Amino acid sequence: MPHLPFSVVGVLHWLLASLWLVSLNAQAAIEVGTLTGELNLGPHVQLLEDAERELDIEQLVGEGGALAWQPSRQETLNFSFSDSAWWLRLRFENNASSPVRRLLELAMPLHDYLDAYVVDEQGDTVDRWQTGDRRRFDSRPVAHRTFVLPIHVPAGASREIFLRLDTHDGLYDATPLSLMSDAGFLAKSQRELMAFSLYFGALLALLIYNLLLYVATRERSLLLYVTYLGSFFVLMFTARGFAFEHWWPALPQFNNQLVPINIGVFAVTLAVFSNSFLNLRRHAPGVTRAIFGVAGLCLLSSLPALLGHYAPVFRLMIPAAIVLSGLLLGVAVWRSWQRDTLARIYLVAWGVLLVGVALYFLRVAGVLPYNLVTEYAVQVGSGIEFLLLSLGLAWKINQFKNEKLAAERATLELQRSLNERLEVVVEQRTRELERANRRLMALARTDPLTGLLNRRQFHELVEEKLQERRRSGQPLLFAVMDIDDFKLFNDTHGHQAGDEVLMQVATLLLDHFRRAGDRLFRLGGEEFGILLEADSLEAGQHALERFRQALEQLRIPHETSRHGVVTGSFGLVCCSDCRQVPSAIALYRQADQAMYEAKERSRNRVVTRSLAGAWE
Ligand code: GH3
Ligand code: MG
Ligand code: MG
Repeated sequence: MPHLPFSVVGVLHWLLASLWLVSLNAQAAIEVGTLTGELNLGPHVQLLEDAERELDIEQLVGEGGALAWQPSRQETLNFSFSDSAWWLRLRFENNASSPVRRLLELAMPLHDYLDAYVVDEQGDTVDRWQTGDRRRFDSRPVAHRTFVLPIHVPAGASREIFLRLDTHDGLYDATPLSLMSDAGFLAKSQRELMAFSLYFGALLALLIYNLLLYVATRERSLLLYVTYLGSFFVLMFTARGFAFEHWWPALPQFNNQLVPINIGVFAVTLAVFSNSFLNLRRHAPGVTRAIFGVAGLCLLSSLPALLGHYAPVFRLMIPAAIVLSGLLLGVAVWRSWQRDTLARIYLVAWGVLLVGVALYFLRVAGVLPYNLVTEYAVQVGSGIEFLLLSLGLAWKINQFKNEKLAAERATLELQRSLNERLEVVVEQRTRELERANRRLMALARTDPLTGLLNRRQFHELVEEKLQERRRSGQPLLFAVMDIDDFKLFNDTHGHQAGDEVLMQVATLLLDHFRRAGDRLFRLGGEEFGILLEADSLEAGQHALERFRQALEQLRIPHETSRHGVVTGSFGLVCCSDCRQVPSAIALYRQADQAMYEAKERSRNRVVTRSLAGAWE
């Protein structure tokens, strides 16, 4: 039971070969006594088609030349899709003086049925085997992944070899036949085993490495790569005959089912991986649907294999696989054209594999010779493909990380600049608030009309001053002033003019009392308070007297007043021992009383009062 890509080429090949069919029946014998190295038996074989599957070895030997044997002339036999059984005939001759043993290899591990007969000169069958991929592994005379038959030819004798090839349901593949000495076979199988060990070892190392990377990073594309590589590994291991030899030698049917099922699974994992690797869902959603559709069709078309039907599987699967490859390559070329680095890596990876496949096909078609390069081109190509894809994944993850880092940095930068701007705004607002607060506090402390300290401030400040003087023992002077006959002034000149007088008085007060400790209050209406920085009652009286005169000298006309101008009456008190004074309000009352005394004594004068003993 063959694997996928060989059959199409096989059909063409068989058609070409058929044109050259020669009816010559005579067959030249192959001299096996002196054989060294490996001999390709393809061109030496004679063929007989058994369309009805009615011939047996006795008929073939008995009827001899009466049958329509035809020379093959093909480098590599290939029957592709064919419902017939095929007989192959070879003649070996040993002209040497000793008997020889030669090994005949049919190097197609998946071939279904192989019956082999060795016939001597008398027409007796001296050896026979029934083996093939559809029979248990132990049906093989030599335990090997391909079919190897030991042919004994005595000295000076000849042997006819008849091989009957048949299939389960009409699906053949390329059937390379060769003859070797024991030593030649040993050298070849060693070389093969080394090459395959390197190849499968490399794939396995890539698989395990990427699986571990996935475990460490949880990066989904790594897992998709691992499943893609894993299904490819199983596919190759099965197609090359190793899985049957080592894993399930007693399960030929399972081995046969596995190949097409595996191709279906491989198509799906390839589609899923490619979609993730090239980010197709974003760049080409329509193509992605088509790719998944075709991959799904591959998987679906493999299902009849479970019921034993293989030929229809491949008839559907081969075109689907070609379409899938075309779509993937097409989209990779398109994305590469758009400067997508990952698509370019993907394209190179696939390009390497395609070169490998092309070299292999050219060899199968006989254009290139059989050699190490053409035999292992697919292996080398796919190995490099997976290595490149793994590198591409690393690049992709790195790019993703860099993008994330850049985004984080940008976010951080934004946050920083926002913070800075916020700080500036907060600072500005705080300053404004402080200014407003200061203004508010000033407003709360001062009288709006005159700008002097208000009555509340009077209580606080005088209380403070009293405390201080109680401790220091220094005297405290406080005066109350009231404008004389102010009601009458308002009545005559109006309230507005009255306000202006109040402001003039305040300005005059500020001009006169400018010492550091002087404090001026508007206590209410036309009444003012003065905390005086003076050493004695006399000094205070002197200062007040000067002010009283200055006010009079302003000569603000006040016709209804007894003095003809605006004047004021003053009551000044001095506590030489402030511990005697219980409160600011008590101090005020004393000053107020002194001021009323001044009013009673025809106003416009300063009355003083020393407070020693005033509280008993
Ligand atoms: P005296 O000499 O006895 O102090 O007589 P007076 O008229 O000044 O005293 P009184 O207490 O009878 O009247 C005070 C007047 O002061 C009453 C009111 O019209 C005036 N006044 C109080 N506050 C203001 C103010 O803010 N602006 C103005 N224009 N007038 C005020
Ligand atoms: Mg008054
Ligand atoms: Mg007054």
